[in-house]
Amino acid sequence: MKKLIDKLEAEGSLAREEYLFLIQNFDNELSEYLFEKARNARERIYGKDVYIRGLIEFTNYCRNDCLYCGIRRSNKNAERYRLTKDDIMVCCEEGYGLGFRTFVLQGGEDPYFTDEIMVDIISTIKSEYPDCALTLSIGEKTHKSYQAFFDAGADRYLLRHETANPEHYAKLHPPELSWQNRVNCLYDLKSIGYQVGCGFMVGSPFQTAEDLANEMLFLKELKPHMVGIGPFIAHHDTPFCNEKSGTMELTLFMLGLIRLTLPNVLLPSTTALGTIHPLGREKGILAGANVVMPNLSPVPVRKKYLLYDNKICTGDESAQCRECLQTRMKSIGYNVVTSKGDCITE
Ligand code: SAH
Repeated sequence: MKKLIDKLEAEGSLAREEYLFLIQNFDNELSEYLFEKARNARERIYGKDVYIRGLIEFTNYCRNDCLYCGIRRSNKNAERYRLTKDDIMVCCEEGYGLGFRTFVLQGGEDPYFTDEIMVDIISTIKSEYPDCALTLSIGEKTHKSYQAFFDAGADRYLLRHETANPEHYAKLHPPELSWQNRVNCLYDLKSIGYQVGCGFMVGSPFQTAEDLANEMLFLKELKPHMVGIGPFIAHHDTPFCNEKSGTMELTLFMLGLIRLTLPNVLLPSTTALGTIHPLGREKGILAGANVVMPNLSPVPVRKKYLLYDNKICTGDESAQCRECLQTRMKSIGYNVVTSKGDCITE
């Protein structure tokens, strides 16, 4: 099996069956072997730098009903909130002071935030912070809307495809949501000129090892600038409340495979990974990740943006989160840097 990892390192891809074999048969020792190669690959390009993104969760209203997600519209127990433009600007101001040069506006698909309102928020952030990158993560929109946001100054867009398998997608989402539309959105975003992030949950209900192997081929084809992955974690008020969470081991193994498959990719070590294990985010970096996304949302709303149970950092001030991650990264020999952190391509 080490030979397959050597091959992946040398060639940057494997056949579906080879990925599958690794995913089905890996153990601790093989993981360590993979992680070392993955670290080498990321260090060749990004050194020991870890990029930070300030995450602003600006609304938990959502018109969608994804079966896994705690802010799905059917969850009547979710206490809904939306930040005002002024609230968002305060988050940016605080984040800028803490050294953030990327802001990520993430939210449910909230119809209140029309294109006009979004364009206003985007252009205000970009005019006040021209040296910062602005990332949007607000779901599926039309080409026209994506273009309008881009023209207003948005630089990057995160839209996890959730699974590369349309049939699996249909088991995680209500019938009105389509895999094809989500994937079309990703291609639209790319063609407009965004730096694009896709991604998937590891261990989501009904996911098979074949699905995970296919993820690697999907990534190879889309060639995103970023890939966000994290373990699925059940939320108590969703139809998947009794489903098992994804494991840390498999998530880390997938991070390592992604790093060797797309050596230049921006790869976050996610909050969900930090939620299933106290050292999850450190281990993610050591498996090949190079980004962390501390929370900049105002403390009073943090507990309300609950996509899954037991989410970490919901009680901390932004400055604490920033400090804490800095210390965590230092402890494993990596440095949080305050650059914009664009994807480096040779
Ligand atoms: N509404 C935006 C932002 C979604 S939330 C959008 O549609 O892109 C960001 C990500 O959180 C989702 O893409 C999903 O992959 C992840 N997520 C949602 N529920 C989760 C759960 N129960 N466990 C783990 N990750 C989850």
